[in-house]
Amino acid sequence: MIIDPICKIEVKEDEALKAECDGLIYYFCSEGCRDKFLKERTFARTAYDLIIIGGGPAGLTAAVYAATLKMEALLVAKDLGGQAVDSTKIENYLGFDFITGPELIDKFKHHLFDSHYIDHLMSEVEKIEPDDGGFKVTTSELTTYTAKTLIIATGMTRRRLGVPGEEKFLRKGIFYGNVQELSFVEGEDAAVIGGGNSALQVVENLHTVARNIHLISTSELTADPAVVERVGCLANLHTYLGYKVLEFTGDRTLGGVTIRKKAGAETLSLPVKGAFIAVGLEPNSSLAAPLVQLNERREIMIHPDCSTFHPGIFAAGDVTDAFGKRIIIASGEGAKAALAARQYLLNLRKAVCA
Ligand SMILES: Cc1cc2nc3c(=O)[nH]c(=O)nc-3n(C[C@H](O)[C@H](O)[C@H](O)COP(=O)(O)OP(=O)(O)OC[C@H]3O[C@@H](n4cnc5c(N)ncnc54)[C@H](O)[C@@H]3O)c2cc1C
Repeated sequence: MIIDPICKIEVKEDEALKAECDGLIYYFCSEGCRDKFLKERTFARTAYDLIIIGGGPAGLTAAVYAATLKMEALLVAKDLGGQAVDSTKIENYLGFDFITGPELIDKFKHHLFDSHYIDHLMSEVEKIEPDDGGFKVTTSELTTYTAKTLIIATGMTRRRLGVPGEEKFLRKGIFYGNVQELSFVEGEDAAVIGGGNSALQVVENLHTVARNIHLISTSELTADPAVVERVGCLANLHTYLGYKVLEFTGDRTLGGVTIRKKAGAETLSLPVKGAFIAVGLEPNSSLAAPLVQLNERREIMIHPDCSTFHPGIFAAGDVTDAFGKRIIIASGEGAKAALAARQYLLNLRKAVCA
């Protein structure tokens, strides 16, 4: 594994830019990071106008806009791509009839790091606090950065079922959402739990690999009608609508799932080698929760310009109460948040000069 010494992004030896220094070869994700290394050797800067937290479609688009707006900005993210990387089939992002999540995110990264550049760091933000009219951001390495304004684009993570056996068989047959390597269910029966777009995408990926697929959903299917129609034609799909998972069973690896339609009704035990849970996502809003206002779903409440109820903090994408959890919407909101953050900074400067 080769790590860019400036931003800590994992890079591939044959694709990365190189520089020789004191007899050692260093590899970089972009010219920007290589230049920074040759000039400063480390990530020396700590004060910015804007810090963007999150590397999904919202954060990456905000970063591209910040770069084109020539803002002094830093992007801090645990990973690049967010949930979009899990999407194996994107059919609703303009300009591409069909593209996979990893391919689209590669294009986003190329746009950000090769066509434009802003400072970026692979790290988890652990705390944000008000600081001298702006904000102090602390990462998991306990490094602190300051900024006059923030964009929170921390997206969502997968919800758990909270039933017996779920933890025990995690990665021993139980997975969350899409899994790239499906050979362990080849010719076997599998269960998919959930009824939204993510669950049905798993079904589409499984149907040529697994013998039978049991789709279990507590309610009607909520995925996009085009996907529901396509999946409805699959001969090896058995659908259990209105059913709840009671437990996962097995010995060392997953062997089955027990389901029931309603309290008191008979239980069904389905022997399965794999279970893919896709029952929705939870907003990653706890970081900003002490400072901003959340709704009952714990989404960050935003105004039409992506500003939150705390001056100087903007939010974009799936972590917010904006309608529609889609890549194109998160990207659009990220762009809007960057424009609004810039306007906020211009207003601050005007107020200081007045
Ligand atoms: C399986 C699946 C399939 C999908 N298919 C489609 C599709 O076909 N079409 C479509 O339009 N949409 C699809 N979506 C939805 C789409 O992926 C999301 O709407 C979109 O990714 C949201 O972007 P985001 O940037 O708001 O958040 P996310 O993509 O969730 O990104 C959040 C980012 O924030 C980072 N982060 C979180 N907390 C911290 C922290 N404390 N410090 C630093 N970084 C942090 C994460 O690591 C991540 O980089 C799909 C989603 C899934 C799960």
